[in-house]
Amino acid sequence: METKTGVVKDPLYMEHRPSEFHPESPQRLEVLYEMLEEPEVKEAFLKVTPRSCEREDLERVHAGAYIDLVASTAGKPLTSLDPDTQTSPKSYEAALLAAGGCLEAVDEILSGEIQNVFAMVRPPGHHAETDRAMGFCLFNNVAVAARYAQEKHGLSKVMIVDWDLHHGNGTQRSFYEDPTVLYASTHQYPYYPGTGAFEEVGRGSGEGFTVNVPLRPGHGDAEYAGIFRRIISPVGEAFEPDLLIVSAGFDIYRGDPLGGMGVSPEGFALLTRILKNMASEVCDGKLLVALEGGYNLEGLRGAGKAVLLELLGKDAVGDDSSEIESQGRSRVDALIKEFHRAHGERWKGVVE
Ligand SMILES: [Zn+2]
Repeated sequence: METKTGVVKDPLYMEHRPSEFHPESPQRLEVLYEMLEEPEVKEAFLKVTPRSCEREDLERVHAGAYIDLVASTAGKPLTSLDPDTQTSPKSYEAALLAAGGCLEAVDEILSGEIQNVFAMVRPPGHHAETDRAMGFCLFNNVAVAARYAQEKHGLSKVMIVDWDLHHGNGTQRSFYEDPTVLYASTHQYPYYPGTGAFEEVGRGSGEGFTVNVPLRPGHGDAEYAGIFRRIISPVGEAFEPDLLIVSAGFDIYRGDPLGGMGVSPEGFALLTRILKNMASEVCDGKLLVALEGGYNLEGLRGAGKAVLLELLGKDAVGDDSSEIESQGRSRVDALIKEFHRAHGERWKGVVE
């Protein structure tokens, strides 16, 4: 069956305008939306029109008083909610549409209209916690979408994979004691926001369902592909989610000004393919990819296109990635040891 791929896009996302030289700029989406006009992709995807997120959908993740605080910035000039996070007059509206765009995507994926969606939205979300803005993020788009999929569509399990350069502290916290939402993250460490050690594995009944793979700078396609094929994908196959959501940060791109990783556009394609294959195994390919960080505009354009082509099933890299992976094998072996040390028996026999 031909894969139907949706893209969430809307000009309002460009109206969130943090301070003038902020890396999380409207230009990030301008280059992605320009890319969507390129001949290979232009006619290939279905446009998903976002809606504004309802308050009850936000409240599954965020405190009422915090939603009120963000709402109070509407129409006001530049307001700082955190040292890194500012709002402009239309930021609240854009943030509602970013979360709501992910909900619309979930609706279309779960109705079977579309198999996978790339939500090209901003502001990003994975640092936003229950009661505070953080790290360029206002509302936690993927956390809100996961809870919505469970509450409104009756899904029992959701997996969130976060390949952004930074650890998604807000997402982790939202599901830390919850065995029904598995959060798996690769991230530069130690680094902003400080969380994401191997030992952070979840708590109570959620123990084992938070999977962190912290990384020193300098990792590239070989290590990332190995981690995704040997750790993330088998964990997902054992967990068997009903929906896979990806926090897709493009700040692991080799030229990103905030990051120290070395992933190429081909590497992004490979990660997407590994996750898409995993989703095909466990949940009929139901996959939502949501934009998080990424501050090199060329990287966003090139790697964003590579991800989209993979979602469309237009393979951008060859099927044999074993040669790429072999170059990082010993480093991934060492990470797997650390992973088992932190998780005890939980994933023995699954991750090898
Ligand atoms: Zn990031």
